[in-house]
Amino acid sequence: MGEVIKTDIRSLSLAELKEVFVAHGEKAFRGQQVYEWLWKKSCTDFDAMSNLSNDLRNWLKQTFVIHPIQVEDKQISNDGTIKSGFKLYDQKVVEGVLIPADERMTACVSSQVGCSLTCKFCATGTMDRERNLNPDEIYDQVVHIKNWAQQHYQNPLTNIVFMGMGEPLLNYSNLIKGIEKITSPEGLGMSGERITVSTAGIAKMIRKLADDEVKVNLALSLHAANDAKRNLIMPINESNNLKAVGEALQYYYRKTRRRVTYEYIAFKDFNEGMEDAKELLQFCKLIPCKVNVIEYNPTGDGKFEKADSDKIDKFCNYLEKNGIIAKVRRSRGKDIDAACGQLANKKHENALVKEA
Ligand code: SAH
Repeated sequence: MGEVIKTDIRSLSLAELKEVFVAHGEKAFRGQQVYEWLWKKSCTDFDAMSNLSNDLRNWLKQTFVIHPIQVEDKQISNDGTIKSGFKLYDQKVVEGVLIPADERMTACVSSQVGCSLTCKFCATGTMDRERNLNPDEIYDQVVHIKNWAQQHYQNPLTNIVFMGMGEPLLNYSNLIKGIEKITSPEGLGMSGERITVSTAGIAKMIRKLADDEVKVNLALSLHAANDAKRNLIMPINESNNLKAVGEALQYYYRKTRRRVTYEYIAFKDFNEGMEDAKELLQFCKLIPCKVNVIEYNPTGDGKFEKADSDKIDKFCNYLEKNGIIAKVRRSRGKDIDAACGQLANKKHENALVKEA
């Protein structure tokens, strides 16, 4: 006899869960109860579902599984940033980060194991894309990081950014289902206003986000407002060039009326000159936006260097003088490779936290 393969209960929608209970001869509201255990109370153990009878719990255990992600290790940076590798049911690992600040607690989460886009400056870009994360794996990262905010800083999680490993818009349907669980009242009930999806610029999917009326913020990893330069550092630009991405953003803005954030890493002697600032200004005229100029975080290959701060200031001043909101973002968690673009499952023994 072959082994019985149990269904992952968290792959079922609320309607499907209700159907499963009805087919088992139970009332549909039992399905609703289980759904709330799973997504509102983040319960990963059928035995803890205390408003169900023993019989029902046993039946659930025989029929379904839950695959919670496991904290593999936890590292704390000198600046308080916390990073962890999360082990998935198939032993693959992704990383998630808590970035504490005075006014906010931000979770930075992954959307894929590895990434297919090979951006030249990004550590994740050197890994292969192994698979997409499931909605529950996206949700679990948020739950863990939310708990760290409480445990370590006694503060609620306020923001979520999809700026960890992977390209969220290339895992669109799981991303949307994960966000659903994070924002819905039957789930964590967080506001979509506090969620930012960051993309390297998949034009078609930017349009889809608008069509589907997904109520989250959008950030574009721009890094160059000139096709020749952008092709050099982001191969995705060859099939999604600035014209295609710009038009998709205009479509997005027409539909959503949401201001989009452009992320712009300033690389020394590459994209931080006045010509570059002028090109960026032109791109910024397409729709209401703001620019985050990001310090480059070294990934260890020596290919790029971060721009000098006086050049970055000049660059920002030019944009601001021309009516664009532009801010310099200094990265956090660099000593444990938790900063943007450094996520590649590297460990720092001296920062590891031992927990009972
Ligand atoms: N694929 C998505 C999300 C992951 S990257 C995207 O491209 O937006 C999240 C952010 O980190 C992006 O803005 C990315 O460009 C930035 N980033 C990547 N490598 C970096 C590095 N070495 N230094 C600073 N920022 C980096």
